[in-house]
Formats: sequence, C-alpha cells, structure tokens
Amino acid sequence: MARTGEPVRRLLAIYTGGTIGMRSQKGVLVPGSNLLTALRKLPMFNDEEYSREHQLPEDTLALPLTNENQRILYTVLEYDPLFDSSDMTINEWIKIAKDIERNYEQYFGFVIIHGTDTMAFASSMLSFVLGNLQKTVILTGAQVPIHTLWNDGRENLLGGLLMAGQYVIPEVCLFFQNQLYRGNRVTKVDSQRFAAFCSPNLPPLAIVGADITINLELMLKASVNKQLEVHSNMERNVGVLRLYPGITAVMVRAFLQPPMKGVVMETFGTGNGPTNPELLWELKKATERGMVIINCTHCLQGSVTSDYAAGMALSGIGIISGSDMTSEAALAKLSYVLGRDDLSLEDKKKLLTKNLRGEMTPLPKDVQVSLRDSKFVQLIASLLYLNCSQDLDAVRDSLTPTLACAAARMGDLETLEAIVELGGDLSESDFDGRTPLHMAARGGHVGAVQCLLKNGVKVNSWDGDRSSPLLMAVKGRHRDVIQILKDAGAQLSPQELQGTGTELCRLAASGDRDGLIAWQQAGVDLFQKGYDGQTPLQVVFARQMGLSGLPEATQLGNY
Ligand code: ASP
Repeated sequence: MARTGEPVRRLLAIYTGGTIGMRSQKGVLVPGSNLLTALRKLPMFNDEEYSREHQLPEDTLALPLTNENQRILYTVLEYDPLFDSSDMTINEWIKIAKDIERNYEQYFGFVIIHGTDTMAFASSMLSFVLGNLQKTVILTGAQVPIHTLWNDGRENLLGGLLMAGQYVIPEVCLFFQNQLYRGNRVTKVDSQRFAAFCSPNLPPLAIVGADITINLELMLKASVNKQLEVHSNMERNVGVLRLYPGITAVMVRAFLQPPMKGVVMETFGTGNGPTNPELLWELKKATERGMVIINCTHCLQGSVTSDYAAGMALSGIGIISGSDMTSEAALAKLSYVLGRDDLSLEDKKKLLTKNLRGEMTPLPKDVQVSLRDSKFVQLIASLLYLNCSQDLDAVRDSLTPTLACAAARMGDLETLEAIVELGGDLSESDFDGRTPLHMAARGGHVGAVQCLLKNGVKVNSWDGDRSSPLLMAVKGRHRDVIQILKDAGAQLSPQELQGTGTELCRLAASGDRDGLIAWQQAGVDLFQKGYDGQTPLQVVFARQMGLSGLPEATQLGNY
C-alpha cells in the first residue's frame, strides 16, 4: 500500500481553525492565526537544517527524517478567517474539498486541521463530497492547544502528517490519539479526554504504537482511472430528529415542514419508535409527499434491524433503514444523495440503502451477492492493484479473468465495474477459453452483458468448446441478451451452425417454442432440414396431426 521509490513526499496541511491553534483572549479560547510560526519553533515539526539547505518556501516545513528515511514536506494553507468548528457548515467543507481538488496533482496527501466539535460531521461530509479519491485525506485536531505544555495537538498533528506522508489510504480518515479511523464511522464521545473519538461499528484502519498496524482488509480501494470529483451540490435542507419517549405528533409535524427534504431520525435500540398512530401518520404523510427519512439508532453501537413490531411500523411507512451508520454519516449521505439531481426520488432512496463510501456494514445477503463487498476480494484487490511489483502484476493478470468470469456468471455488475476501475481487462479468457461475456450471456445477465460490451469486450470469441457468447445465450433462451449481442454484431460461426436443422427439429418435436425463437432471433433459418429431410415446421404439423397439443410452436411465423 505504501508507495515506494519516492524519498520526498509533499503534503498539503489545510488549517481551518479549532482548539489546536487557539489562544486565550479575555479568558476564553479563540482561533489563533500563524500556526506555521508555532510549528516552526518545534523541532518535531521542523528540520531547520534541511529547510535552510533546500531553501524551502516560507509556507513549507520539513519533518525530520522518518524511521524509513523518508522526507515529508508539508505546506500549510491557513484559512482566513479561522473557525471554531461550531461555525463550520457545508459551505466551508466544500471549500476544503475544492482546495484539495485545486492542489490534487501537486501533493501526495492532505491533512485537514479542524476543530474537534464538528470534526465527525466534517469527515463524514467530506467522504461524500470527494468522489473517486485516490489519495489520503486525514482530518485531525486537538482537545488542548498545541502551544501549551501538556497537549494532544503535537501528537495528533504529527501522527496525521506521518500517516498521510507514508501511506496511500484512498479515503477520508480521522486521526486522533494514535488511531486512524474511517472518517464517516466516527463520532465525538468525550469533550475533554484526549481519546475524544470512537468508531463504534468499524475497527480503526490503523493503530500507531511502537509499530504501525494497518488493517488492510478494511480499506476502501482506490478508484483507479477515475478523476477526483467534488460533489458540491449537497442538499442543505436536511436535519436530525432525535425521538424521545412521549414526543408528540405535533412536534414531529413541525420538524418535517418545508424546506426540510430529508431527515435522519434517531430511534430507540434496534430502530424502534413509538407506535402512536398520530405520530406514525405524520411520518407516513411526510414520506408520501417525498420526504426522505433514514432510521438510525440512538445507541452508540449496533445496527437498525426489524426485530420488533415497533421497528417494523417505521419501515412499513417508507422509512429507510440506516443500518449501523452514525447520525453524522447518515446526514452527510442524505445531503449527498438528495443533491444528486440526476436521480429520481426512487433511485435516491435505493442509493441510500447501499454502502457508498464504507459508511455502513453491508447486510450479509449483499455480501454474498457482491464479490466487491466481500473482504476476501477487497483484500485481493487491494493487494493486487494498490501495490506495484512485477510479481504481483503477474498474479493479478492470471487472477483477473477468473474473478471477472465468476462475477459475470452471477451478473455481479459491481464487481465487474470495480475490476475496470482498478485497471483490469475484462476481455481476457479463463483457462477454459471463456470470457466474462460467455458467462454473462450464459446466465442471461443483461446488465453485465451491456457493461462488458461497453468496456470493449469482443462480441465474437470462441471458448475451448468452440462456443460463442451468442450460442450460450441461445442455449439459455435469453432473448434480451441475444438481441443485445446481435445488435453488437454477434454471429454464429459455421461450426456452430452445423447440425442446427436437426437441433431445430428436436426442439419442434418437443414443442419448445422458446428454444426455436431463440435460434431464429440469432439469425438461424427455421426452414432448414433436419437429418431426415424434414423442416421444423413439418415436424410441428406432424405432431399436431398425430399427437395432441403443440399449437404454440406453429405461431413462430409471428416472429
Ligand atoms: N470548539 C473547538 C472547535 O471545535 C473544539 C476543538 O477544536 O477541540 O473548534
């Protein structure tokens, strides 16, 4: 995962404010400017000799050499004004994302210095605003200002810089008290202790001690070959409604009024709410008029399920399960999905149930369906694609066709797309000479067939048994797939056409109308003769005269 061969790594540290740089003014802490000046005085943040020798620009400092002899340089971009993070809004987070976008090519990674009070909101929001991330983005801050004798700012900032400078972790993370968390899994749990954050439903991505332990299997894969996207069209009219015992229908109605468009509803335990009919009525009316409501649990740990009638009542009125998302992540996801003007309301609701940025644990049934979500494939993918060595290239090239064929056979579009994103080639055949297109055609998976063709897979290719994808679709009687393949130029080979007369007569004799239509759709002449000189139509008539019932086969003329 770490990139090798680059002795100097450049980072951009965006200083937005927060306690870490605060100064006391008239007895209260206010954001303090010139963090760079303070860092310059601290040897752990500034290798003076190196800076002098290399004449680093004014806004750039060098960390002392790492244990691996790596040199990390960081440029500080200080915001003006600086914020107590209580004043941060979606606008400021989008500005941070745009600054990352503007500087994306120049830097190896990004560290965002932010107040802790809303840092979990910020890291959740940024995880959705930044799409197709291929570089590390780490938020950090402190409970105590870095200028004071005993503080957590130095350790947190140094840790954030070292992680971002040494590893490619292509997601938005939060570093605090020696732990690197996924940004959309955290919540602030302590207003004073240095261990201010926790990630209740996902272990840390990395833990820093004497050694650094990386949980490789948890990491999101990089969107190779895709450009960074900043989704600035986030919906602002979203909110959080915390249910409590005795909350009335009138209060809920007031909260759900326009301009509100989406609500994260914090419910009891496994997602239960009062079954008071008036309150349910208000929620139902809101979802019917297009309000999107996500059900997240009040509890710090665990997931929303439908184990209780009180929980079922909510899902029965169109409220979407938030699974094990934090409220911060659910709010950010809602803001992102509702901002997607290209989607219908139904598609937005569907998207909300999916795991988009690692913000929720996929349901076990989804894990089985999608190879992409399985830890096994994530691990293989991250090992195969995020590392570069000739040995791994060879392993990757030989494993990709098998993975792609397995995915195509199941119609697992997500995995096919993931393989493409990772730079894999979908046109390679497996050891039987079968391509993913053979497998998708055989399974009748329209989406997978379209995806493969869109990615340049050759429509005419023959496996070890000399069968083409078109023949597989014909044998499976998958008419939509046959049509798509034909439209893309698929043709049966002379070898595949050999003996079709006899095959057609056999189908006619057994009244297999779908089988005959499939061949006809593939371009085969239904009037050709079988081994005994009879055409399929003659076989049908003979059957009709002599035996009862196969009238449908005579309707073939309609096709
Ligand atoms: N109020 C501060 C802030 O969020 C708290 C902190 O940074 O720890 O900006």
